[in-house]
Amino acid sequence: MPELPDLTVVADALHAAIAGRSVRSAAAPGPLAVRGTPAELEALVGQRVEAIRQVGKFLLIALEQDAIACNPMLTGRFQLAAPGDKLPAKTAFVLGFGPRLVSPPDAAAWTRGASWLPASDALPEIRYRDPTQMGKIYLQPAGVARPVPGLGPPDQGPDADDPALTLDVWRDRIRRHPGELKNLLRNQAFVAGIGNAYSDEILHAARLLPFRKRSSLAAEEVDALYVATRATLANAVEVLKERVPPTFELQVRDFLAVHDKGGQPCPRCGTRITEVRAGGFITSFCRGCQR
Ligand SMILES: [Zn+2]
Repeated sequence: MPELPDLTVVADALHAAIAGRSVRSAAAPGPLAVRGTPAELEALVGQRVEAIRQVGKFLLIALEQDAIACNPMLTGRFQLAAPGDKLPAKTAFVLGFGPRLVSPPDAAAWTRGASWLPASDALPEIRYRDPTQMGKIYLQPAGVARPVPGLGPPDQGPDADDPALTLDVWRDRIRRHPGELKNLLRNQAFVAGIGNAYSDEILHAARLLPFRKRSSLAAEEVDALYVATRATLANAVEVLKERVPPTFELQVRDFLAVHDKGGQPCPRCGTRITEVRAGGFITSFCRGCQR
């Protein structure tokens, strides 16, 4: 499942590649994934892309008038392609773009001069593909109030790496959630963007067990969880910037310390990593160095 680090890198890259271009074509080969009418889809053509950004587990595309909210859920992936590139199976949504005069001045520094950036006169495409067809693309025409489940308050709290989420705000927000730490981190209403993989990584970095209750944490442990959250996500974004382009549909997870590494030695203490399967999810942790 794409989480905050994955989507941050994809959003930075797509913004750098596409912002400033106008939509040439809009198609929904997998119409079940798209919430919106054919007329709303057609109305995207001609609109210039203002920004592409990540919020929580969503990718948001802001156009001149309308907007598009993408929730890739478990298996949705984004591809930056050229027209004529083979369309992968289970492609649900394709936007084609025209040329642009200049690159966006607010593109992320790490994308500048990247070899995968399409030339200004190129005609790139964004494709959304979803093998399980669980994700959704919500068309948001100006003036149409179409609810997007899970986007915005109260279901969605601040992004886990939001500069406005200070330690004081974290301490205040966490009080409302007494339950198990893994569920807490995955609760988008607490902080947004963390899923199954990065919750395991953050708890390992904080040396806290996933099934421990927040209500049992000492004040220093609450603070350690904050520090671990910020450091783990920031580090992952740095790694993914190097590893993911130009294949943005790749989900790179091999650098993680514990998640999905059951039976392998813990990189910190050497204890064999424990793996628990519950509710269809893998939880990985170290009994040697997490308390
Ligand atoms: Zn360990």
